[in-house]
Amino acid sequence: MNIDGILDKQDLTKEEIKFLLAAEGDDKKKLFDRALQVKLEHLDNYVHLRGLIEYSNICTKYCLYCGVRSKNPNFTRYQLSDDEVIECAKLAHELGYGSVALQSGERSDKEFTDKITLLVKEIKKIDNGSLGITLSLGEQTEETYRRWFEAGAHRYLLRIEASNEELYYKIHPQDAKHDFKTRLNCIDTLLKLGYQTGTGVMVGLPFQTLDDLAGDLLFFQRKDVAMVGMGPFIPHPDTPLWQYKDQIPTAEKRMELTLKMIAILRLMMPEINMVAATANQTVDPMGREKAIAVGANVIMPNLTPNEFRENYLIYPDKACVKDKPDQCQTCLDVRLAAIGHKVLYNAWGDSLAFRKKNPASTL
Ligand code: SAM
Repeated sequence: MNIDGILDKQDLTKEEIKFLLAAEGDDKKKLFDRALQVKLEHLDNYVHLRGLIEYSNICTKYCLYCGVRSKNPNFTRYQLSDDEVIECAKLAHELGYGSVALQSGERSDKEFTDKITLLVKEIKKIDNGSLGITLSLGEQTEETYRRWFEAGAHRYLLRIEASNEELYYKIHPQDAKHDFKTRLNCIDTLLKLGYQTGTGVMVGLPFQTLDDLAGDLLFFQRKDVAMVGMGPFIPHPDTPLWQYKDQIPTAEKRMELTLKMIAILRLMMPEINMVAATANQTVDPMGREKAIAVGANVIMPNLTPNEFRENYLIYPDKACVKDKPDQCQTCLDVRLAAIGHKVLYNAWGDSLAFRKKNPASTL
């Protein structure tokens, strides 16, 4: 296979994707350069921000990789107060972020879902609905997703985590709470309801092969999602997958594989939004910039009050746990300018893929 013959293709075969995932040296550089070029052609050099609010680390699930799993007793559980959430959202607005992303451990009881409806409505009241709202609150019923949509949330992130069912059950317990088909159905429901829907996977998981990763990219394309978030898997000592930490690629390799995944997906889906996940920065201090330079176009600066951040440790040594929001902003502007990019402030930053299908949505 010759790299020059496939870099202009959008409909890559699984074999071609695997070839690109294995690219080294000159071929790797060609892949990264082409992905950046495709992004600039379609989306310019803008980066969109989502002020991240880590609402709660209380979780009813026990995914085998995640530090906030319910079966980890080694840290304090919290839930932000309504005022704390609204303060974070107001800060996002003041800083010109344009959008917030509300993320949390998974709960689906009525008290929780009603609270989220109320918070979404309250955030919408800030400056007459000027903030875009992304939710990342796990698997819910269609009725709950609809209620949150009607309250004003318009984007939803639910990573499939692994699109190969067999791998899915190696990183999740196989029980009613962690059902692959339910997760798939949730993504379909979000798409059906009109959410700007995002999904994604972790890269460098135990048991994960290049074939799995190529399958993940084809899955995103097949589902025609508007957003994708991918980041390196980071083993957490209080989780069952920790025991495989010596059998996975090194942090450097997981980072590189993540960058290749982002670059290849940019070729396949030129108009979607792609997040430069915080996990990238955790394994490499320049990780987010590197992701932006090979095709990502969204960053989620953390707005969670500092005293809670250290308890939202889905993985260890998370980046920016001690940064203050205003420091974060200056730091971002400088870091992005250094790689020829700039933040588009005061804009929702909906994905071009979504905007083309939904003329009412805005940049
Ligand atoms: N509960 C919601 C859900 O399941 O979508 C949102 C919160 S969940 C903690 C957010 C994401 O963190 C997950 O989709 C997963 O991919 C990522 N994550 C969890 N543990 C991780 C780890 N050890 N390394 C890297 N990413 C991890």
